[in-house]
Amino acid sequence: MSLDLLLLLLIILAILLNKSLTPPPRTTSKPCIGCGKLTSLRCSRCHEAYYCSPAHINADWINHKITCRKANRPVLEALLFPVDEPAPRLVKIPYLSKVDTDGLQPTPYHELDVPTMGRLLRGLEMKYVSRLGSHGSQLDHALVVMYGSDFQLDGSAQNECIAGLTGGRMPIPWAGNVLVLRQKGRLYSETWESATMEDVAAMSRFFEEYRDFVPYAF
Ligand SMILES: [Zn+2]
Ligand SMILES: [Zn+2]
Repeated sequence: MSLDLLLLLLIILAILLNKSLTPPPRTTSKPCIGCGKLTSLRCSRCHEAYYCSPAHINADWINHKITCRKANRPVLEALLFPVDEPAPRLVKIPYLSKVDTDGLQPTPYHELDVPTMGRLLRGLEMKYVSRLGSHGSQLDHALVVMYGSDFQLDGSAQNECIAGLTGGRMPIPWAGNVLVLRQKGRLYSETWESATMEDVAAMSRFFEEYRDFVPYAF
């Protein structure tokens, strides 16, 4: 292959990958992430990262692609029971809407942002909660409880938030972070909706009563 042809292919590839630079609407200058030179050119996908030249965004793409466009991604609010804080709070989890076409019929699902989830949980295990307490009234929406798959074995610290909420009366020694989202619809699915602080009540009952790994009255 001639050098010219190779160059042409590289340019086409760069255009396809949409890693171009665009001047911002207002002229702000910031240091180029690659070399520190002041520049007003920013990544045209996220408009957040400054680069002096296509060469420098290309060189940094392996790092930048992880955060690029994250600002524009849709987010769900999950209820976090933090491992080392006294109170639950809402956290934003970016996600992508996808469709699984491997099964008998196309199934939509939400792929939660892996770097964000990975910082919060080690591994992923889920439980479904559909009642207020094990014999209580049916909730309007099911809750999906997400936690580290080996939290009892991987050296995770006890979950202070859950210990506080239950006054220490928790049959399962919850450790590590625990995240809660609402499930969309009544049948099992992996499309989620944002949780709210109102879900703390049902979760407190769950943490007080849940004692084995048998599916929880769903
Ligand atoms: Zn530069
Ligand atoms: Zn970007």
